[in-house]
Amino acid sequence: MPGICFADIVAVRPDKDSLISEYRAIGAALDRGEHALALAEWDRVRRRYDSWSALVGLRFAQNTADEAARAERDYADALSPEASDLEIALKCRLLADRGPVSALAGDHAVRLWETDITTFDPAIKPELEEEARVSSQYTELLAAAKLEIGGRTVNLAGLEPYAENPDRSVRHEAERVRWRYFETHAAALDRIYDELVKLRHGMARKLGFRTFTELGYRRMRRVDYGPGDVARYRQQIVAGVVPLVARLLEIRRIEHGWDTLRYWDEALIDPAGNPKPAGGHDELVDAAAAMFDGMHPGLAAFYRLMRDGGFMDLKNRPGKAGGGFCTSFPTEGMPFIFANFNGTHHDIGVFTHEMGHAFQNWESRHQPGVDYLWPTMEAAEIDSMGLEFLSYPGIGKLVGEDAADRFRRMHLIGALAFLPYGACVDHFQHEVYANPDATPADRHAMWARLERLYMPWTDYGDLGFPNKGGRWQAKAHIYGSPFYYIDYTLAQCCAMQFWVRSRRDYTGTMEAYTALCARGGSLPFQDLVRSAGLVSPFADGALAGVVQEATSFLGV
Ligand SMILES: [Zn+2]
Repeated sequence: MPGICFADIVAVRPDKDSLISEYRAIGAALDRGEHALALAEWDRVRRRYDSWSALVGLRFAQNTADEAARAERDYADALSPEASDLEIALKCRLLADRGPVSALAGDHAVRLWETDITTFDPAIKPELEEEARVSSQYTELLAAAKLEIGGRTVNLAGLEPYAENPDRSVRHEAERVRWRYFETHAAALDRIYDELVKLRHGMARKLGFRTFTELGYRRMRRVDYGPGDVARYRQQIVAGVVPLVARLLEIRRIEHGWDTLRYWDEALIDPAGNPKPAGGHDELVDAAAAMFDGMHPGLAAFYRLMRDGGFMDLKNRPGKAGGGFCTSFPTEGMPFIFANFNGTHHDIGVFTHEMGHAFQNWESRHQPGVDYLWPTMEAAEIDSMGLEFLSYPGIGKLVGEDAADRFRRMHLIGALAFLPYGACVDHFQHEVYANPDATPADRHAMWARLERLYMPWTDYGDLGFPNKGGRWQAKAHIYGSPFYYIDYTLAQCCAMQFWVRSRRDYTGTMEAYTALCARGGSLPFQDLVRSAGLVSPFADGALAGVVQEATSFLGV
Protein backbone atom coordinates (compact mmCIF):
# COMPACT_ATOMS: atom_id res chain seq x y z
CA MET A 1 0.00 0.00 0.00
CA PRO A 2 1.37 3.42 -0.87
CA GLY A 3 2.00 5.43 2.26
CA ILE A 4 2.21 9.01 3.32
CA CYS A 5 5.59 10.66 3.99
CA PHE A 6 6.36 12.41 7.24
CA ALA A 7 7.93 15.29 5.32
CA ASP A 8 4.58 15.95 3.57
CA ILE A 9 2.60 16.48 6.77
CA VAL A 10 1.45 20.06 7.13
CA ALA A 11 -0.39 21.24 10.20
CA VAL A 12 -2.53 24.35 10.57
CA ARG A 13 -1.29 26.63 13.34
CA PRO A 14 -4.20 27.53 15.63
CA ASP A 15 -4.48 30.62 17.82
CA LYS A 16 -6.78 31.55 20.66
CA ASP A 17 -9.28 33.31 18.36
CA SER A 18 -9.43 30.49 15.81
CA LEU A 19 -10.05 27.98 18.60
CA ILE A 20 -12.76 30.13 20.18
CA SER A 21 -14.57 30.49 16.86
CA GLU A 22 -14.32 26.75 16.17
CA TYR A 23 -15.75 25.91 19.59
CA ARG A 24 -18.46 28.56 19.12
CA ALA A 25 -19.54 26.83 15.89
CA ILE A 26 -19.72 23.50 17.75
CA GLY A 27 -21.80 25.17 20.46
CA ALA A 28 -24.14 26.58 17.81
CA ALA A 29 -24.67 23.11 16.33
CA LEU A 30 -25.58 21.85 19.81
CA ASP A 31 -28.00 24.77 20.21
CA ARG A 32 -29.76 23.53 17.08
CA GLY A 33 -29.88 20.01 18.55
CA GLU A 34 -27.47 18.68 15.91
CA HIS A 35 -25.44 16.47 18.23
CA ALA A 36 -23.93 14.25 15.55
CA LEU A 37 -22.72 17.22 13.55
CA ALA A 38 -21.30 18.91 16.68
CA LEU A 39 -19.40 15.80 17.76
CA ALA A 40 -18.00 15.20 14.27
CA GLU A 41 -16.84 18.80 14.05
CA TRP A 42 -15.28 18.65 17.52
CA ASP A 43 -13.41 15.51 16.56
CA ARG A 44 -12.06 17.23 13.44
CA VAL A 45 -10.95 20.25 15.52
CA ARG A 46 -9.21 18.05 18.09
CA ARG A 47 -7.45 15.93 15.47
CA ARG A 48 -6.15 19.04 13.76
CA TYR A 49 -5.01 20.55 17.06
CA ASP A 50 -3.37 17.29 18.21
CA SER A 51 -1.51 16.81 14.92
CA TRP A 52 -0.19 20.37 15.08
CA SER A 53 0.85 20.08 18.70
CA ALA A 54 2.54 16.69 18.08
CA LEU A 55 4.47 18.14 15.17
CA VAL A 56 5.62 21.16 17.19
CA GLY A 57 6.72 18.96 20.11
CA LEU A 58 8.52 16.55 17.81
CA ARG A 59 10.39 19.21 15.81
CA PHE A 60 11.71 20.70 19.03
CA ALA A 61 12.76 17.29 20.38
CA GLN A 62 14.55 16.57 17.10
CA ASN A 63 16.63 19.73 17.43
CA THR A 64 16.53 21.58 20.74
CA ALA A 65 19.10 24.07 19.39
CA ASP A 66 16.65 25.28 16.72
CA GLU A 67 15.40 28.65 18.05
CA ALA A 68 12.36 28.73 15.75
CA ALA A 69 11.33 25.25 16.92
CA ARG A 70 11.77 26.33 20.55
CA ALA A 71 9.67 29.47 20.02
CA GLU A 72 6.92 27.39 18.42
CA ARG A 73 7.05 24.92 21.31
CA ASP A 74 6.71 27.80 23.81
CA TYR A 75 3.79 29.14 21.79
CA ALA A 76 2.09 25.73 21.91
CA ASP A 77 2.71 25.44 25.67
CA ALA A 78 1.09 28.81 26.22
CA LEU A 79 -1.90 27.96 24.02
CA SER A 80 -2.49 24.58 25.64
CA PRO A 81 -4.35 25.86 28.78
CA GLU A 82 -6.67 27.87 26.51
CA ALA A 83 -7.46 24.76 24.49
CA SER A 84 -8.05 22.76 27.71
CA ASP A 85 -10.43 25.44 28.98
CA LEU A 86 -12.51 25.23 25.83
CA GLU A 87 -12.47 21.43 25.91
CA ILE A 88 -13.55 21.24 29.55
CA ALA A 89 -16.38 23.72 28.97
CA LEU A 90 -17.60 21.71 25.99
CA LYS A 91 -17.36 18.43 27.92
CA CYS A 92 -19.52 19.96 30.69
CA ARG A 93 -22.07 21.04 28.13
CA LEU A 94 -22.12 17.60 26.43
CA LEU A 95 -22.52 15.85 29.77
CA ALA A 96 -25.60 17.93 30.48
CA ASP A 97 -27.13 16.27 27.41
CA ARG A 98 -25.86 12.79 28.18
CA GLY A 99 -28.57 10.67 26.50
CA PRO A 100 -27.99 11.53 22.84
CA VAL A 101 -24.28 12.18 23.42
CA SER A 102 -23.65 8.73 24.96
CA ALA A 103 -25.37 7.03 22.05
CA LEU A 104 -23.14 8.86 19.56
CA ALA A 105 -19.76 9.09 21.34
CA GLY A 106 -19.84 5.87 23.39
CA ASP A 107 -20.29 5.22 27.11
CA HIS A 108 -16.58 5.09 27.82
CA ALA A 109 -15.89 8.49 26.22
CA VAL A 110 -18.61 9.98 28.40
CA ARG A 111 -17.10 8.37 31.50
CA LEU A 112 -13.68 9.81 30.60
CA TRP A 113 -15.13 13.31 30.20
CA GLU A 114 -16.94 12.97 33.53
CA THR A 115 -13.59 12.23 35.11
CA ASP A 116 -11.78 15.02 33.25
CA ILE A 117 -14.17 17.78 34.32
CA THR A 118 -13.63 16.98 38.00
CA THR A 119 -9.88 17.55 37.68
CA PHE A 120 -10.14 21.16 36.60
CA ASP A 121 -11.61 24.42 37.77
CA PRO A 122 -10.52 27.93 36.76
CA ALA A 123 -9.71 28.45 40.47
CA ILE A 124 -6.67 26.14 40.17
CA LYS A 125 -5.29 27.58 36.93
CA PRO A 126 -2.48 29.52 38.68
CA GLU A 127 -1.43 26.37 40.60
CA LEU A 128 -1.44 24.30 37.41
CA GLU A 129 0.85 26.79 35.71
CA GLU A 130 3.08 26.81 38.78
CA GLU A 131 3.13 23.00 38.84
CA ALA A 132 4.33 22.91 35.22
CA ARG A 133 6.95 25.57 35.97
CA VAL A 134 8.35 23.85 39.08
CA SER A 135 8.24 20.45 37.42
CA SER A 136 10.35 21.71 34.51
CA GLN A 137 12.98 22.89 37.04
CA TYR A 138 13.53 19.24 37.85
CA THR A 139 13.83 18.30 34.17
CA GLU A 140 16.32 21.10 33.58
CA LEU A 141 18.36 20.23 36.66
CA LEU A 142 18.78 16.64 35.45
CA ALA A 143 19.39 17.65 31.84
CA ALA A 144 22.20 19.97 32.93
CA ALA A 145 24.28 17.12 34.39
CA LYS A 146 27.79 16.99 32.94
CA LEU A 147 29.50 13.95 34.38
CA GLU A 148 33.12 12.88 34.02
CA ILE A 149 33.71 9.19 33.46
CA GLY A 150 36.37 7.22 31.60
CA GLY A 151 37.97 10.44 30.36
CA ARG A 152 34.69 11.59 28.78
CA THR A 153 31.93 14.01 29.72
CA VAL A 154 28.46 12.49 29.53
CA ASN A 155 24.92 13.29 30.65
CA LEU A 156 22.83 11.00 32.88
CA ALA A 157 21.66 8.91 29.90
CA GLY A 158 25.24 8.66 28.69
CA LEU A 159 26.13 7.04 32.00
CA GLU A 160 24.01 3.95 31.25
CA PRO A 161 26.54 1.98 29.17
CA TYR A 162 29.08 2.45 32.01
CA ALA A 163 26.49 1.42 34.61
CA GLU A 164 26.19 -2.00 32.99
CA ASN A 165 29.80 -2.43 31.92
CA PRO A 166 31.07 -5.99 32.53
CA ASP A 167 33.94 -4.48 34.57
CA ARG A 168 32.74 -4.16 38.15
CA SER A 169 34.92 -1.17 38.96
CA VAL A 170 33.50 0.76 35.98
CA ARG A 171 29.94 0.07 37.16
CA HIS A 172 30.86 1.18 40.66
CA GLU A 173 32.40 4.37 39.30
CA ALA A 174 29.28 5.08 37.20
CA GLU A 175 27.08 4.88 40.29
CA ARG A 176 29.51 7.00 42.33
CA VAL A 177 29.39 9.67 39.62
CA ARG A 178 25.61 9.47 39.31
CA TRP A 179 24.86 9.81 43.03
CA ARG A 180 27.48 12.48 43.61
CA TYR A 181 25.48 14.61 41.16
CA PHE A 182 22.28 14.04 43.11
CA GLU A 183 24.03 14.69 46.42
CA THR A 184 25.37 18.01 45.11
CA HIS A 185 21.83 19.08 44.20
CA ALA A 186 20.09 17.53 47.22
CA ALA A 187 18.69 20.82 48.55
CA ALA A 188 17.16 21.81 45.19
CA LEU A 189 15.72 18.31 44.63
CA ASP A 190 14.04 18.41 48.06
CA ARG A 191 12.78 21.95 47.57
CA ILE A 192 11.29 21.20 44.13
CA TYR A 193 9.46 18.10 45.31
CA ASP A 194 8.21 19.79 48.47
CA GLU A 195 6.71 22.59 46.37
CA LEU A 196 5.10 20.11 43.98
CA VAL A 197 3.53 18.08 46.79
CA LYS A 198 2.12 21.21 48.46
CA LEU A 199 0.82 22.61 45.16
CA ARG A 200 -0.88 19.32 44.31
CA HIS A 201 -2.41 18.96 47.77
CA GLY A 202 -3.66 22.55 47.58
CA MET A 203 -5.33 21.95 44.20
CA ALA A 204 -6.97 18.78 45.47
CA ARG A 205 -8.40 20.65 48.48
CA LYS A 206 -9.74 23.44 46.27
CA LEU A 207 -11.48 20.86 44.09
CA GLY A 208 -13.05 19.24 47.17
CA PHE A 209 -10.83 16.15 47.53
CA ARG A 210 -9.36 15.12 50.88
CA THR A 211 -5.86 14.57 49.50
CA PHE A 212 -4.18 14.63 46.10
CA THR A 213 -4.44 10.86 45.68
CA GLU A 214 -8.01 10.90 44.39
CA LEU A 215 -7.26 13.79 42.06
CA GLY A 216 -4.09 12.04 40.88
CA TYR A 217 -6.09 8.93 39.95
CA ARG A 218 -8.61 11.08 38.09
CA ARG A 219 -5.87 12.91 36.21
CA MET A 220 -4.73 9.47 35.00
CA ARG A 221 -8.34 8.91 33.82
CA ARG A 222 -8.70 5.78 35.95
CA VAL A 223 -12.37 4.92 35.87
CA ASP A 224 -12.41 1.27 36.93
CA TYR A 225 -10.08 0.83 39.91
CA GLY A 226 -8.81 2.68 42.94
CA PRO A 227 -5.94 2.82 45.45
CA GLY A 228 -7.25 -0.29 47.28
CA ASP A 229 -6.93 -2.41 44.13
CA VAL A 230 -3.46 -1.06 43.48
CA ALA A 231 -2.40 -1.80 47.08
CA ARG A 232 -3.52 -5.43 46.68
CA TYR A 233 -1.57 -5.71 43.43
CA ARG A 234 1.58 -4.40 45.14
CA GLN A 235 1.01 -7.05 47.79
CA GLN A 236 1.00 -9.75 45.06
CA ILE A 237 4.39 -8.44 43.94
CA VAL A 238 5.78 -8.59 47.48
CA ALA A 239 4.47 -12.13 47.99
CA GLY A 240 5.25 -13.63 44.58
CA VAL A 241 7.93 -11.67 42.77
CA VAL A 242 10.24 -10.38 45.52
CA PRO A 243 11.33 -13.91 46.55
CA LEU A 244 12.01 -14.89 42.90
CA VAL A 245 14.10 -11.78 42.23
CA ALA A 246 16.00 -12.33 45.47
CA ARG A 247 16.78 -15.88 44.31
CA LEU A 248 17.94 -14.68 40.87
CA LEU A 249 20.26 -12.13 42.46
CA GLU A 250 21.68 -14.72 44.83
CA ILE A 251 22.42 -16.98 41.84
CA ARG A 252 24.18 -14.06 40.13
CA ARG A 253 26.28 -13.41 43.24
CA ILE A 254 27.41 -17.03 43.31
CA GLU A 255 28.07 -17.13 39.53
CA HIS A 256 30.44 -14.18 39.85
CA GLY A 257 32.00 -15.34 43.09
CA TRP A 258 31.20 -12.08 44.88
CA ASP A 259 30.99 -11.93 48.69
CA THR A 260 28.11 -9.49 48.42
CA LEU A 261 26.01 -8.36 45.49
CA ARG A 262 26.11 -4.58 45.46
CA TYR A 263 23.69 -2.09 43.95
CA TRP A 264 26.02 -1.56 40.96
CA ASP A 265 25.91 -5.29 40.19
CA GLU A 266 22.14 -5.29 39.64
CA ALA A 267 22.39 -3.90 36.07
CA LEU A 268 24.80 -6.60 34.87
CA ILE A 269 22.23 -9.31 34.31
CA ASP A 270 24.25 -11.57 32.01
CA PRO A 271 27.53 -12.83 33.54
CA ALA A 272 29.16 -12.66 30.08
CA GLY A 273 28.01 -9.04 29.65
CA ASN A 274 24.52 -7.95 28.63
CA PRO A 275 24.02 -8.81 24.91
CA LYS A 276 24.25 -5.83 22.56
CA PRO A 277 22.53 -5.15 19.20
CA ALA A 278 24.23 -6.96 16.30
CA GLY A 279 25.12 -3.80 14.39
CA GLY A 280 24.36 -0.11 14.43
CA HIS A 281 21.24 1.86 13.58
CA ASP A 282 21.03 0.97 9.88
CA GLU A 283 21.55 -2.74 10.43
CA LEU A 284 18.95 -2.77 13.20
CA VAL A 285 16.35 -0.95 11.10
CA ASP A 286 16.89 -3.43 8.22
CA ALA A 287 16.92 -6.53 10.41
CA ALA A 288 13.71 -5.41 12.12
CA ALA A 289 11.81 -5.76 8.82
CA ALA A 290 12.74 -9.45 8.69
CA MET A 291 11.81 -9.88 12.35
CA PHE A 292 8.35 -8.29 11.92
CA ASP A 293 7.79 -10.36 8.74
CA GLY A 294 7.97 -13.44 10.91
CA MET A 295 5.53 -12.09 13.49
CA HIS A 296 2.34 -10.85 11.82
CA PRO A 297 1.50 -9.69 8.28
CA GLY A 298 -0.24 -6.51 9.48
CA LEU A 299 2.72 -5.58 11.67
CA ALA A 300 5.16 -6.30 8.84
CA ALA A 301 3.28 -4.04 6.39
CA PHE A 302 2.92 -1.31 8.98
CA TYR A 303 6.65 -1.33 9.74
CA ARG A 304 7.40 -0.68 6.07
CA LEU A 305 5.03 2.29 6.09
CA MET A 306 6.84 3.70 9.12
CA ARG A 307 10.32 3.10 7.75
CA ASP A 308 9.71 4.14 4.16
CA GLY A 309 7.63 7.19 5.14
CA GLY A 310 10.31 8.53 7.50
CA PHE A 311 8.24 8.08 10.66
CA MET A 312 11.23 7.04 12.80
CA ASP A 313 14.07 9.07 14.30
CA LEU A 314 16.21 6.69 16.34
CA LYS A 315 19.80 7.93 16.01
CA ASN A 316 21.48 9.83 18.79
CA ARG A 317 22.93 13.18 17.69
CA PRO A 318 23.94 16.49 19.26
CA GLY A 319 21.06 18.80 20.08
CA LYS A 320 18.46 16.03 20.07
CA ALA A 321 16.32 15.69 23.21
CA GLY A 322 16.86 12.56 25.32
CA GLY A 323 14.57 9.59 25.82
CA GLY A 324 12.24 7.59 23.64
CA PHE A 325 8.56 8.13 22.86
CA CYS A 326 5.82 7.57 20.33
CA THR A 327 3.67 10.44 19.14
CA SER A 328 1.01 10.59 16.42
CA PHE A 329 -0.70 12.69 13.79
CA PRO A 330 -4.39 11.86 14.07
CA THR A 331 -5.26 13.84 10.94
CA GLU A 332 -3.21 11.29 8.97
CA GLY A 333 -3.62 8.24 11.23
CA MET A 334 0.17 7.84 11.38
CA PRO A 335 2.37 7.58 14.48
CA PHE A 336 6.05 8.49 14.81
CA ILE A 337 8.71 6.90 17.02
CA PHE A 338 11.64 8.73 18.57
CA ALA A 339 14.67 7.26 20.36
CA ASN A 340 18.39 7.75 21.04
CA PHE A 341 20.29 4.56 20.27
CA ASN A 342 23.36 4.13 22.46
CA GLY A 343 24.64 0.71 21.35
CA THR A 344 23.31 -1.23 24.35
CA HIS A 345 20.40 -3.70 24.57
CA HIS A 346 18.22 -0.72 25.55
CA ASP A 347 18.12 0.15 21.82
CA ILE A 348 16.26 -3.07 21.15
CA GLY A 349 14.03 -2.60 24.19
CA VAL A 350 13.07 0.96 23.30
CA PHE A 351 12.61 0.13 19.62
CA THR A 352 10.25 -2.83 20.12
CA HIS A 353 8.48 -0.91 22.91
CA GLU A 354 7.80 2.24 20.88
CA MET A 355 6.88 0.13 17.84
CA GLY A 356 4.21 -1.50 20.05
CA HIS A 357 2.72 1.92 20.86
CA ALA A 358 2.92 2.90 17.19
CA PHE A 359 1.25 -0.32 15.98
CA GLN A 360 -1.59 0.12 18.49
CA ASN A 361 -2.16 3.70 17.39
CA TRP A 362 -2.18 2.63 13.73
CA GLU A 363 -4.54 -0.30 14.35
CA SER A 364 -6.87 2.08 16.25
CA ARG A 365 -6.95 4.72 13.55
CA HIS A 366 -10.56 3.90 12.60
CA GLN A 367 -11.87 4.30 16.14
CA PRO A 368 -14.71 6.84 16.09
CA GLY A 369 -13.19 9.62 18.19
CA VAL A 370 -9.94 11.09 19.45
CA ASP A 371 -10.60 9.77 22.96
CA TYR A 372 -10.27 6.20 21.65
CA LEU A 373 -7.09 6.57 19.58
CA TRP A 374 -4.92 5.86 22.64
CA PRO A 375 -5.93 3.83 25.70
CA THR A 376 -5.28 5.09 29.21
CA MET A 377 -1.60 4.66 30.09
CA GLU A 378 -1.66 1.31 31.89
CA ALA A 379 -3.49 -0.25 28.93
CA ALA A 380 -1.30 1.52 26.36
CA GLU A 381 1.75 -0.01 28.01
CA ILE A 382 0.37 -3.53 27.45
CA ASP A 383 0.62 -2.89 23.70
CA SER A 384 4.22 -1.65 23.96
CA MET A 385 5.55 -4.05 26.59
CA GLY A 386 3.58 -6.84 24.94
CA LEU A 387 5.48 -6.35 21.69
CA GLU A 388 8.81 -6.52 23.58
CA PHE A 389 7.87 -10.05 24.70
CA LEU A 390 6.23 -11.10 21.43
CA SER A 391 9.48 -10.21 19.61
CA TYR A 392 11.30 -13.02 21.47
CA PRO A 393 11.15 -15.68 18.71
CA GLY A 394 12.81 -13.45 16.08
CA ILE A 395 14.99 -11.39 18.40
CA GLY A 396 18.12 -13.15 17.09
CA LYS A 397 17.73 -10.98 13.97
CA LEU A 398 18.46 -7.91 16.10
CA VAL A 399 20.90 -9.29 18.64
CA GLY A 400 22.60 -12.10 16.68
CA GLU A 401 21.34 -15.70 16.68
CA ASP A 402 24.10 -16.84 19.05
CA ALA A 403 23.04 -14.25 21.64
CA ALA A 404 19.25 -14.72 21.27
CA ASP A 405 18.81 -17.05 24.27
CA ARG A 406 20.91 -14.81 26.48
CA PHE A 407 18.94 -11.74 25.36
CA ARG A 408 15.57 -13.37 26.17
CA ARG A 409 16.86 -14.42 29.59
CA MET A 410 18.22 -10.96 30.32
CA HIS A 411 15.01 -9.24 29.19
CA LEU A 412 12.82 -11.53 31.29
CA ILE A 413 14.97 -11.12 34.41
CA GLY A 414 14.94 -7.34 33.86
CA ALA A 415 11.15 -7.38 33.57
CA LEU A 416 10.77 -9.36 36.80
CA ALA A 417 13.24 -7.18 38.72
CA PHE A 418 11.40 -4.09 37.55
CA LEU A 419 8.15 -5.07 39.29
CA PRO A 420 9.31 -4.57 42.92
CA TYR A 421 11.00 -1.28 42.04
CA GLY A 422 7.90 -0.02 40.20
CA ALA A 423 5.66 -1.00 43.13
CA CYS A 424 8.01 0.78 45.55
CA VAL A 425 7.86 3.99 43.49
CA ASP A 426 4.06 3.78 43.58
CA HIS A 427 3.73 2.93 47.29
CA PHE A 428 6.05 5.82 48.14
CA GLN A 429 3.82 8.30 46.31
CA HIS A 430 0.72 7.05 48.13
CA GLU A 431 2.48 7.73 51.43
CA VAL A 432 3.76 11.12 50.26
CA TYR A 433 0.34 12.43 49.24
CA ALA A 434 -1.36 10.94 52.32
CA ASN A 435 1.08 12.98 54.44
CA PRO A 436 1.39 16.33 52.68
CA ASP A 437 2.98 17.96 55.73
CA ALA A 438 5.88 15.50 55.90
CA THR A 439 9.34 17.09 55.73
CA PRO A 440 11.92 16.14 53.10
CA ALA A 441 13.71 14.12 55.79
CA ASP A 442 10.47 12.25 56.54
CA ARG A 443 10.15 11.42 52.82
CA HIS A 444 13.66 9.99 52.66
CA ALA A 445 12.84 7.83 55.69
CA MET A 446 9.59 6.66 54.01
CA TRP A 447 11.51 5.60 50.91
CA ALA A 448 14.19 3.81 52.91
CA ARG A 449 11.51 1.86 54.83
CA LEU A 450 9.62 0.86 51.66
CA GLU A 451 12.83 -0.10 49.90
CA ARG A 452 13.45 -2.71 52.59
CA LEU A 453 10.02 -4.20 51.86
CA TYR A 454 10.25 -4.28 48.05
CA MET A 455 14.01 -4.60 47.44
CA PRO A 456 15.46 -6.13 50.61
CA TRP A 457 18.57 -7.18 48.67
CA THR A 458 19.69 -3.63 47.90
CA ASP A 459 23.19 -2.91 49.20
CA TYR A 460 24.47 0.56 48.31
CA GLY A 461 27.94 -0.05 49.73
CA ASP A 462 29.77 3.27 49.93
CA LEU A 463 27.17 5.26 47.95
CA GLY A 464 26.18 7.80 50.57
CA PHE A 465 23.18 9.43 48.93
CA PRO A 466 21.00 6.39 48.17
CA ASN A 467 22.08 4.91 51.51
CA LYS A 468 20.19 7.78 53.14
CA GLY A 469 16.97 7.10 51.20
CA GLY A 470 17.61 9.34 48.17
CA ARG A 471 17.20 6.92 45.27
CA TRP A 472 13.66 8.06 44.44
CA GLN A 473 14.96 11.49 43.44
CA ALA A 474 16.38 10.06 40.20
CA LYS A 475 12.90 8.94 39.06
CA ALA A 476 11.40 11.68 36.88
CA HIS A 477 7.85 10.27 37.09
CA ILE A 478 7.77 10.95 40.85
CA TYR A 479 8.26 14.64 40.11
CA GLY A 480 6.47 15.15 36.80
CA SER A 481 3.82 12.42 36.47
CA PRO A 482 2.37 11.53 39.87
CA PHE A 483 0.86 8.03 40.21
CA TYR A 484 1.83 7.13 36.63
CA TYR A 485 4.54 4.62 37.49
CA ILE A 486 2.39 1.70 38.64
CA ASP A 487 0.98 1.61 35.10
CA TYR A 488 4.17 -0.01 33.84
CA THR A 489 3.90 -2.78 36.42
CA LEU A 490 0.19 -3.37 35.71
CA ALA A 491 0.98 -3.58 31.99
CA GLN A 492 3.99 -5.84 32.65
CA CYS A 493 1.70 -8.36 34.35
CA CYS A 494 -0.48 -8.40 31.20
CA ALA A 495 2.43 -8.38 28.73
CA MET A 496 3.94 -11.38 30.51
CA GLN A 497 0.61 -13.22 30.21
CA PHE A 498 0.85 -12.67 26.44
CA TRP A 499 4.36 -14.13 26.60
CA VAL A 500 3.14 -17.23 28.49
CA ARG A 501 0.40 -17.78 25.90
CA SER A 502 2.70 -17.16 22.95
CA ARG A 503 4.88 -20.06 24.09
CA ARG A 504 1.97 -22.42 23.47
CA ASP A 505 0.27 -20.69 20.51
CA TYR A 506 2.27 -17.91 18.86
CA THR A 507 -0.05 -17.18 15.92
CA GLY A 508 -3.18 -17.11 18.07
CA THR A 509 -1.48 -14.83 20.59
CA MET A 510 -0.39 -12.40 17.85
CA GLU A 511 -4.00 -12.31 16.63
CA ALA A 512 -5.26 -11.55 20.14
CA TYR A 513 -2.56 -8.90 20.56
CA THR A 514 -3.41 -7.22 17.24
CA ALA A 515 -7.14 -7.25 18.08
CA LEU A 516 -6.35 -5.60 21.42
CA CYS A 517 -4.32 -2.93 19.64
CA ALA A 518 -7.26 -2.26 17.31
CA ARG A 519 -9.61 -1.74 20.28
CA GLY A 520 -7.44 1.26 21.20
CA GLY A 521 -8.90 3.14 24.12
CA SER A 522 -12.53 2.23 23.49
CA LEU A 523 -12.84 0.49 26.88
CA PRO A 524 -11.54 0.98 30.44
CA PHE A 525 -8.34 -0.84 31.45
CA GLN A 526 -9.78 -4.03 32.95
CA ASP A 527 -12.31 -4.46 30.14
CA LEU A 528 -9.51 -4.19 27.58
CA VAL A 529 -7.48 -6.74 29.54
CA ARG A 530 -10.38 -9.21 29.67
CA SER A 531 -11.22 -8.61 26.00
CA ALA A 532 -7.80 -10.04 25.13
CA GLY A 533 -8.41 -13.10 27.32
CA LEU A 534 -5.97 -11.88 29.98
CA VAL A 535 -6.48 -11.86 33.75
CA SER A 536 -6.79 -8.44 35.40
CA PRO A 537 -3.73 -7.71 37.56
CA PHE A 538 -6.17 -6.91 40.38
CA ALA A 539 -7.51 -10.47 40.44
CA ASP A 540 -5.97 -12.72 43.09
CA GLY A 541 -3.21 -14.85 41.66
CA ALA A 542 -2.85 -12.79 38.46
CA LEU A 543 0.93 -12.90 38.80
CA ALA A 544 1.15 -16.53 39.93
CA GLY A 545 1.01 -18.01 36.43
CA VAL A 546 3.68 -15.75 34.98
CA VAL A 547 5.95 -16.23 37.99
CA GLN A 548 5.63 -20.01 37.59
CA GLU A 549 6.36 -19.88 33.84
CA ALA A 550 9.32 -17.53 34.36
CA THR A 551 10.71 -19.77 37.09
CA SER A 552 10.70 -22.80 34.82
CA PHE A 553 11.93 -20.84 31.76
CA LEU A 554 14.89 -19.54 33.76
CA GLY A 555 15.42 -22.91 35.42
CA VAL A 556 15.65 -21.51 38.95
ZN1 LIG B 1 5.52 3.10 26.78
